[in-house]
Amino acid sequence: MKRVGLFGGTFDPIHNGHLQLAEAACNECQLDRVLFIPAASPPHKPNQKIISYDHRVEMVRLACAGNNRFACSCIESNLPQPTFTVDTLRALKGRFENEVQLYFLIGVDAFLEIMTWKEYTVVLSFLNFVLCPRQLCDREALLALMGTLGYSRSGSIWSHKEYKNLFELSATPDNVSSTEVRNALPGDPSVENVAPHVIQYIKKHGLYGACD
Ligand code: ATP
Repeated sequence: MKRVGLFGGTFDPIHNGHLQLAEAACNECQLDRVLFIPAASPPHKPNQKIISYDHRVEMVRLACAGNNRFACSCIESNLPQPTFTVDTLRALKGRFENEVQLYFLIGVDAFLEIMTWKEYTVVLSFLNFVLCPRQLCDREALLALMGTLGYSRSGSIWSHKEYKNLFELSATPDNVSSTEVRNALPGDPSVENVAPHVIQYIKKHGLYGACD
């Protein structure tokens, strides 16, 4: 059975932490593919100024180009705004054959917000989760949340009587965030932690105050 990872994010811009997370999920959970799904209009970042969807998609495409297991999905371009994960999953459902196993890739910081997601119980029942540690994230808060949600743990696998499994990755990606990258770019257009083709694109289009 094929295993496909779905990786939702704002990707403003995509950085090496995202790519390392997807790579670790492929290695540790034997995923055949990872679909990066840029959020058209992320509901959890209503007050943040986000660059255009088309630019973010193009940067994800460039970052994925070097890895034949990675691809970018534009599914959210056709969905009502703001885009909620549960609606994206419903829209994607028909695109996969029944014998595909789906895994939702997520960092701990984002998972800690899961109870605020629209129909989060449907999301947790719909597909497996792959949870990635993120430096400086509060493990105690995660353990408390798992208890509240009713999961029990055996090694790196969390199970639940109603929801699908949740796998905890052991790899911890570099401590980088899109916020840090955006803040660094005006002064340092060759910022570390972003793929060279993405940096070229950022400079070419003068994004985030960076220029050639
Ligand atoms: P921002 O700084 O703008 O909030 P971000 O770096 O958190 O952005 P997002 O696109 O919001 O990036 O994140 C998409 C997903 O990737 C989330 O599930 C987030 O937890 C995860 N993620 C992002 N960076 C890392 C990292 N360095 N390590 C582990 N997970 C990460």
